[in-house]
Amino acid sequence: MAPRQSEHVACAAGQDVLAAGEITFGENSDGYFVEAVSNQSTGYCPDPDCWPAVAEALDRLDLPHPGGFTAPLTFRRCPACGERNIVRDADFTCALCAADLPAAWNFDVA
Ligand SMILES: [Zn+2]
Repeated sequence: MAPRQSEHVACAAGQDVLAAGEITFGENSDGYFVEAVSNQSTGYCPDPDCWPAVAEALDRLDLPHPGGFTAPLTFRRCPACGERNIVRDADFTCALCAADLPAAWNFDVA
């Protein structure tokens, strides 16, 4: 984990970035817990299927968490214009050029 304005690559210290997003912690009489967690990273645009990496990190810290992203986002890069899109209401259409977006996560494609 790293502060909000830091780069994922720096946080990963040269290793693969396994997940990215935002996390909010709460505190109660039992200690700290994860109040909210998302994959909201417009730099890395991770797929919600990166949750197991997040859960593993939180479990290693013994931090109670919600068991999944509280606000999962679906990102796709438009193959026609290159724009980064957030898919809403299962509409896989580019918001910029109206091209079809792929069903599978595609930020690993050059
Ligand atoms: Zn497009």
